[in-house]
Amino acid sequence: MPVLTREEAQTRARILDVHRYAIDLDLTTGDDTFDSTTVIEFTALAAGDTFVELKPAVLRGATLDGQPLDPATLDDNRLPLTGLSEGRHELRVDTAMRYSRTGEGMHRFTDPTDGETYTYTQLFLDDVQRVIAAFDQPDLKAVFDLTVTAPDHWTVLANGVTERREDGRWKAATTPRISTYLVAVAAGPWHSVRTEHAGLPFGIHCRRSLAPHLDADAAEILDVTRRCFDRYHEKFTEPYPFDSYDQAFVPEFNAGAMENPGLVTFRDEFVFRSAVTVAERQTRAMVIAHEMAHMWFGDLVTLKWWDDIWLNESFAEYMGYQTINEATARYPDTWIGYGIARKSWGYDADQRPSTHAVAPDPEAVPDTASALLNFDGISYAKGASALRQLVAWMGEKEFLAGINNHFARHRFGNATLADFIDNLATATDRDVHAWADAWLRTTGIDTLTADVTGEPGRWTLALHRDGSRPHRATVGEVAVVDADGGAVG
Ligand SMILES: [Zn+2]
Repeated sequence: MPVLTREEAQTRARILDVHRYAIDLDLTTGDDTFDSTTVIEFTALAAGDTFVELKPAVLRGATLDGQPLDPATLDDNRLPLTGLSEGRHELRVDTAMRYSRTGEGMHRFTDPTDGETYTYTQLFLDDVQRVIAAFDQPDLKAVFDLTVTAPDHWTVLANGVTERREDGRWKAATTPRISTYLVAVAAGPWHSVRTEHAGLPFGIHCRRSLAPHLDADAAEILDVTRRCFDRYHEKFTEPYPFDSYDQAFVPEFNAGAMENPGLVTFRDEFVFRSAVTVAERQTRAMVIAHEMAHMWFGDLVTLKWWDDIWLNESFAEYMGYQTINEATARYPDTWIGYGIARKSWGYDADQRPSTHAVAPDPEAVPDTASALLNFDGISYAKGASALRQLVAWMGEKEFLAGINNHFARHRFGNATLADFIDNLATATDRDVHAWADAWLRTTGIDTLTADVTGEPGRWTLALHRDGSRPHRATVGEVAVVDADGGAVG
């Protein structure tokens, strides 16, 4: 299967303006495949050739502006569109698509407990092509209309609010402009707990056999959700950009969670079935906060190309830990847990011969397949730590002002690391570009050591840096008490 190269994506973004996808899925056609029809409205900004991507079980037919295209021209995952004239076009593609059992594309799962079947999408990177035909790159955003045929006793969830029409089919509200990898559907006889917050429908969902366990924790999960939502509205001037907030705990999910706009999916191991530690509850709360941060950073403003995926994840990681800390009295020590459990992952990776800069050279990510090769403890843990240092270094007020400029300038669009740094720079006198060069384009660790001299009550502390980066550190004093109660230092 050819993977999309950065160069191809740049070329296609120059010649296409994509407006709307109308997607029609039929999930009642058997256990192996489902029917998928995609109608794409787009404008060719210049005459020429391009292609649409899909990975069908069967390509039944395709038309461009009503004229049939030859299905035999499908070359691996690319259907060529040749000789496009400048102007508006409509492409229609009819397929049968395969369900997956790998968590890629449309996953289908039958619960051994009660025989009920569930389906949900995971379309990150390039797996949307397993579900619909798409101009599949993050910077060709469009609005999506979705209609789904599903068995009678199922509920269909999607990015937008869904409703069952008189003909029995499910229709999702039109999305704002989003990237193809963020489209989401979850259909099955879900057990749901629904509520409303800030005028928006909120829901949590899981398979029926886990209902008692979700119900037992529903108050806690929804409380964390509401608190994070409110806290983000204190930090961000841009309001929550979508029409609802559903969180579906889905079976056999092969990641932790996915930030689909309005429909976050989580592995259903987060629906606890036995006694768990506070640390496990804190992790779940942090993941809820992390995914919600993506609604703004990732979904409202999306990376232009996959070289900036570390920034997407580092931002959500930083915001997740920080916001849970601020928003919940129950989990006040998230950064301590981060320092113990996450940050060491970055230190470890950064001291190996295979280390690399936090922000890769764009040339290092020439195609979608290479996007995740360097996605490790450096991109994730060191990246989030660097952002936390950036906040300490430039000040939180300035950082949030810069972030809000970033959201306002690129809302429902795309942005790069350079845009992010430029927007932060508008909010401070400090040289954010130099900071970025020192922290994001270099490898290895700096070592800070403290020299403490003096005596109790009159300590003098000198902080030494072995390294090249600017640091701002908060120094705390800890009293160590010996066994009979006397302070020793
Ligand atoms: Zn994330």
